[in-house]
Amino acid sequence: MPVGSAEDTPLLRQYKSLKSAYPHAVLLFRLGDFYEMFGDDAKLASPILGVVLTHRQGLPMCGVPYHSFSGYAAKLLKAGHRVAIADQMEEPSQAKGIFKREVTRLLTPGTLVEDELLGSSATNYLVAIEPDTVGWGLACVEVSTGEFWATQAINDHGGLQLHGLLARLDPAEVLVPPRALEDASLKRLLPARAAVSPFSAPHPELPVEWSNAALWRNRHLALRAALAARAYVVETQSHLRDAPLPEYREAANALALDEAAIRTLELVDSTEGGKRHSLWGVLDLAKTAMGSRRLRHWILHPSIELPEIERRLNCVAELGDKPSAREKLRAALGEMSDVERVIQRLATRSAGPRDLAALRDSLLQVHSLEAWAGDGAFDSGLAALADALLALAAPLKELQKYLDGAVAEEPPARLSDGGAVREGFDAELDKLRRLKADSRSVLAELEERERRETGISSLKAGYNSVFGYFLEVTKAHQAKVPARFIRKQTLTNAERYITPELKELEVKILGAEDKALRLEARLFEAIRSETLDRAEPVRRFAQLAAELDALAALSERASSSGWTKPTVDFSHVFEIEDGRHPIVEAALPAGTFVPNSTRLDGDKAQTIVLTGPNMGGKSVYLRQNALLAVLAQMGSFVPAKSARIGGVDRILTRIGAQDQLARGESTFMVEMRETSHILRSATARSLILLDEVGRGTSTYDGISIAWAVLEHLNRALAKDGGPRGPRVIFATHYFELTELAELLPGVVNASVEAREWTTPEGRTEVVFLHKISPGPADRSFGIHVAELAGIPTACLARAREILRGLENEARAKPAAKPRAIDDEPTLPLFDEEPVLRELRAVDPDHLTPRQALDLIAAWKKRV
Ligand code: ATP
Repeated sequence: MPVGSAEDTPLLRQYKSLKSAYPHAVLLFRLGDFYEMFGDDAKLASPILGVVLTHRQGLPMCGVPYHSFSGYAAKLLKAGHRVAIADQMEEPSQAKGIFKREVTRLLTPGTLVEDELLGSSATNYLVAIEPDTVGWGLACVEVSTGEFWATQAINDHGGLQLHGLLARLDPAEVLVPPRALEDASLKRLLPARAAVSPFSAPHPELPVEWSNAALWRNRHLALRAALAARAYVVETQSHLRDAPLPEYREAANALALDEAAIRTLELVDSTEGGKRHSLWGVLDLAKTAMGSRRLRHWILHPSIELPEIERRLNCVAELGDKPSAREKLRAALGEMSDVERVIQRLATRSAGPRDLAALRDSLLQVHSLEAWAGDGAFDSGLAALADALLALAAPLKELQKYLDGAVAEEPPARLSDGGAVREGFDAELDKLRRLKADSRSVLAELEERERRETGISSLKAGYNSVFGYFLEVTKAHQAKVPARFIRKQTLTNAERYITPELKELEVKILGAEDKALRLEARLFEAIRSETLDRAEPVRRFAQLAAELDALAALSERASSSGWTKPTVDFSHVFEIEDGRHPIVEAALPAGTFVPNSTRLDGDKAQTIVLTGPNMGGKSVYLRQNALLAVLAQMGSFVPAKSARIGGVDRILTRIGAQDQLARGESTFMVEMRETSHILRSATARSLILLDEVGRGTSTYDGISIAWAVLEHLNRALAKDGGPRGPRVIFATHYFELTELAELLPGVVNASVEAREWTTPEGRTEVVFLHKISPGPADRSFGIHVAELAGIPTACLARAREILRGLENEARAKPAAKPRAIDDEPTLPLFDEEPVLRELRAVDPDHLTPRQALDLIAAWKKRV
């Protein structure tokens, strides 16, 4: 659409000037009760929204009702568009000429705060990336909850760390500096699901309120990313009062889970899509959306700090030992709304009357939570949480009282409907409301009097927005209408009139109503602002509620499913007795899941080569072990008779094949890329699960690759008798690999049991026992599984014939060359020394001599 020309109406000129400021967004332009879209926006939006495209004077347009715009906005966002909302900024009574309009909100996938546009318990992160030749900075904001932090990494080879972090965050929107978008290697790291917006901070200076500049010293990349994220949030949220303050987080303070692990372990999304059959789905017995989000966060960021893991485990245990305390806690939490998001909507000024009512009602639970905290006599970490609750109780109760007096019992959804502020809060408002109510009764009196005077018993007073108040008389009684009635509108069966007295009353009623609404809007703004001023304790309260809710949910799951408390320690042991896969177990009939044990010590048993029939349960077993590690380190009990886990620092998986044809990669290419990632990033504390490496190519190529990979992972043999290295479970159908147990130290065989038997009719059947036992398997029963899958009989018979032929031939084996112990390890098996990493990140040009001395002293102490 051309920029405003002289022939345009003033309205169109206004539209065009707003639109020119938001060229990359669909502009929703408020006109009366509708949001209208014009020109190319209308053409783009009408098929997405399913609304009719019309033309006025050759200009395409379409519109949606303003009160239900959020559903339409959601559709546009889902289709990958940004949405700018232009609202009327004046009351009808103030406007001279056309209304003043402004863009009040720019909706982008990563900056939403509206509940209708957000899933209730998933996160909605906006991530800003600041790539640089030495590394990268990343900032992460969730506008709807106020979470805001930044991190950076130096020397992230191939961006693997960035890729893993992005996979965990699963952002809705990623901001990348426009120049960096030309870099194909960066683009490959970006999650496919996220909307990518080119953006960098226009003024890269430290905002005044980020007063602790020391926090950002030597963290320039993180800071730059944080500034970009902040600038973008401010741009999209024109009403934001307090932009959140970022904190600095170390990128590596959690168990690292790469994208493949998150996906194949179905941590928060199942392969069918959705949460239901995921680990999150199994664990999420939380009573609040806050607790549910906290669980999700813990699942994706299991801890590597033993004290923190133990703290959570002990809390879960204590809640399990005191079921009535747990029940009381959960009952109180169950009455709470998503306070975290309410607070953030307050900060962005998008909180409506019902948000404040929800906050008021949630704060009522402070009383029962206070009682809970007071009675508890807890001796785990719960004691500290209870103390924190008690310390917050007073200001929260005060705020509750304030809101109780300010907000109506059941306020309307929209402020403009009137009635949000409670009677008794403001004398002037009460007066106006009484006036309105009085006028109504005066109107009823007038109606009654006119009926008597004219003798028209069916005469009735009414109101419509075009003609205002009127008296309606049916056609049958027209003869009795007195001359002082002034005709206003003719309907099929009736005529509508006004009288001077009615007109006068109308002015009074509408005047009072209008005044009341405007006053109420001002009062509500003040209430909102007052609440926001007192929001800090509420924010902390929301954090506490989320934590308690998550812990109680874990305890509830542990009790109802018979899970046990794991031991997590500094050893390299991975010992599970009778472990179960929590998701598969939940999906199978009760009692049918076959438990399995695992014994690894990173030394004598460092690698398990797992063989066995197709459909035997190998993949389930691999995943089960990884899930148990995640559960234990996030602080949850585990589905096992007992578990001892020597802290795992990363879980690396290659399970199942997935084409990424869209990215130009075949199945085998993906398989090799994932394997390469594992070999490069394995550390001595990693848990590595490999399912069928080398399957997507010819048999000899495949065996050779699998063999070499296993040898490679076994190379971390420490010369000083320390642990050998990553704990590995390697499932394969290449029986040749079982020989490695004899050739390499630390490699052991295990297999899945299956029984073959002959039916009375003489048919051979296979029963999968799903039981893992020591020693290698000798058969794959692949043809049997093919039979189960319905391959035609003739084809199966031929396959058996060929198999027999092949089995009779001598099979070539790759020469096993046991590796000399003092071979140079080629793997980066241990993370770089943290001090060295910090040293790399230091920018000497920006240090004072004093700072340099302090740094040297601190490093020396740590070394
Ligand atoms: P393939 O080699 O063909 O990939 P697999 O050995 O990896 O097969 P899985 O996919 O792990 O086999 O398991 C096949 C099915 O067996 C699962 O879908 C599950 O229903 C069932 N199963 C696996 N393990 C168990 C178990 N421990 N208890 C009960 N059922 C199990």
